[in-house]
Amino acid sequence: MNLAKLRNIGISAHIDSGKTTLSERILFYSGRIHKIEDVRGGGDGATMDHMELEKERGITITSAATSVEWKGHPINLIDTPGHVDFTVEVERSLRVLDGAILVLCSVGGVQAQSLTVDRQMKRYKVPRLAFINKMDRTGANPDKVVQQMRDKLGVDAIPFQIPIGLEDKLEGVVDLVEMKAYYNEGSQGEIVKEAEIPADLMDKAQEARQHMLESLSLYSDELMELLLAEEEVPTDLIHKVTHDAVIGLNITPVFMGSAYKNKCVQPLLDAVTRYLPSPLEIQYKAKDVEDPNKLIPLSCDDDKPFVGMAFKIVEDPYGQLTFMRIYQGKIEKGKGYVNQRTGKTDRFARIVRMHSDKREEIDSAGAGDIVAVMGVDCASGDTYASERNYCSLESIFVPIPVIKIS
Ligand code: GDP
Repeated sequence: MNLAKLRNIGISAHIDSGKTTLSERILFYSGRIHKIEDVRGGGDGATMDHMELEKERGITITSAATSVEWKGHPINLIDTPGHVDFTVEVERSLRVLDGAILVLCSVGGVQAQSLTVDRQMKRYKVPRLAFINKMDRTGANPDKVVQQMRDKLGVDAIPFQIPIGLEDKLEGVVDLVEMKAYYNEGSQGEIVKEAEIPADLMDKAQEARQHMLESLSLYSDELMELLLAEEEVPTDLIHKVTHDAVIGLNITPVFMGSAYKNKCVQPLLDAVTRYLPSPLEIQYKAKDVEDPNKLIPLSCDDDKPFVGMAFKIVEDPYGQLTFMRIYQGKIEKGKGYVNQRTGKTDRFARIVRMHSDKREEIDSAGAGDIVAVMGVDCASGDTYASERNYCSLESIFVPIPVIKIS
């Protein structure tokens, strides 16, 4: 696996803002499912229970972790419960993420529950992108939502797109980095068409791009100098500055569209691969089992001793699946690893990668990855390592994603 390309991400959202619909579209556009059926009924309002739907269609929309691929990037999509209360369960699902998409409704904007979810994300220092969904709804107001993100969430929200049309006239978006228009075609929005920016939007797009560049220039002298000299800013530089500012938790780039109407989900996936970090870019630390004050830096390297955390245990018809984030080293099918809490060695009988429609049995999995293991009997939150008394991930308050300074 090319680790630099891997993304471990979650979607955090206020209930009803479209997390399920967006997740399903991601599975569809990444080729994991082959047909969009209205996941939860006909647009706003109608709902269908996830479990019911999953049973009916035999797929997992909201599995603990689902692996997809987008343009050569493996993406592990981890389910982040949108609970209001700060539970251990939420905590665990957040700590295994390297990045997230914050979904907001274009009409409802930042609501009480968004604040809670936001606090949790900040506490775990999760770099984020925002997606303003439901741009097709009457009353959609992305500018208002961006302002609310600044005022209520206190984040430096920077629009990277402007909409082409709005409400029932939503057609696509203008990408302010590439200065191109994006439209979806095909009965399920599966074709992305790039085009020139509509003439009547050009002034607005240029103004918005200037605003985006000025906001980004606070994080890059090079960009600032180019702006001051009124010179062309290369696209690659914008991508790099954005990537670094997102990982440094300085900015939240804002994208927009309508998951339900199959609009603009693909550009969001491009942004995930461009701006959210790979496991190599975040350094996690664990607590020394014997000296709780000592932190051991973990390295995302297959050749180091294995350290992983069981973050979710799910019973399914095939048996118990233990979802595990591998922070360091690798695991191999059939080998034994030590549960750091109990001191017992458990054999990892089978290792599986979960896809929405099937499970893939694999022989090994390396550092940075998220997989499910079968045959272990442990508690959610247990740390496993290749050696006894190596370290503990659970007892430490935060895995401290420390940004590597390159
Ligand atoms: P979740 O609770 O965040 O998982 O939200 P769902 O994905 O279940 O969506 C809640 C409701 O909003 C459902 O009725 C969806 O069909 C609807 N919905 C989701 N995305 C959109 C959208 O982009 N536009 C409109 N109009 N409705 C949407």
